[in-house]
Amino acid sequence: MEKTVYSYIKAMRDIIVENKDFLTQLDAEIGDADHGTNMARGFNAVVEKLSEEDLDLKNVLKKAGMGLISSVGGASGPLYGTMFLKAANVAVDNTMDPNVLCQMFKAALDGVKERGKATKGEKTIIDAMEPAYEAFVEVIDSGGSVQQALEKALEAAKEGVEYTKTIIATKGRASYLGERSIGHQDPGATSFTLLLESILKNYMK
Ligand code: ADP
Ligand code: MG
Ligand code: MG
Repeated sequence: MEKTVYSYIKAMRDIIVENKDFLTQLDAEIGDADHGTNMARGFNAVVEKLSEEDLDLKNVLKKAGMGLISSVGGASGPLYGTMFLKAANVAVDNTMDPNVLCQMFKAALDGVKERGKATKGEKTIIDAMEPAYEAFVEVIDSGGSVQQALEKALEAAKEGVEYTKTIIATKGRASYLGERSIGHQDPGATSFTLLLESILKNYMK
């Protein structure tokens, strides 16, 4: 692995902190105006718990997952925390083997779906994450590079965010709004897309 897992976590923290107000604004429209604050608190706590000497992929992902769960009060904490914990479970040493990455992505997606009992079309993280996962696997399975897979995944996640504008929220706080949630993009789908963007950028650095 060229880049340390720590550098990816820090890149995630940075993009979340940069977009903190934007994410909170999105949540103000259909939720309780704290998604940016929640995510920034969580990722800041995680980065504080880690150090550059933490090089073990599994261990860092596990620490990140536990850190998010323990520091974020909102729904997003346990969901994002589960994402990291499940990926940690299937991570192998420090390999960035494309097939292992596919398995980690799949475990993370299944974990979030199970934890939040949500499927695609409910205006949640899943609307960005599932298409991103599918695009990632498709590229890897057809012999593409990890960079190409990340690029396609990011594209699919962005389309997923656009899709959330067209649908009614049926999970989480935004579901209280019913039809009035239409026209607004989902904060969680947006933060997931930002995380993916930070991964791609750090990968290409
Ligand atoms: P809270 O809603 O508790 O204030 P946040 O504002 O941090 O928490 O997170 C809201 C985001 O969490 C939503 O935009 C949505 O994407 C995501 N979310 C909420 N419930 C679920 C769920 N059951 N499954 C997947 N994602 C969910
Ligand atoms: Mg909120
Ligand atoms: Mg809240």
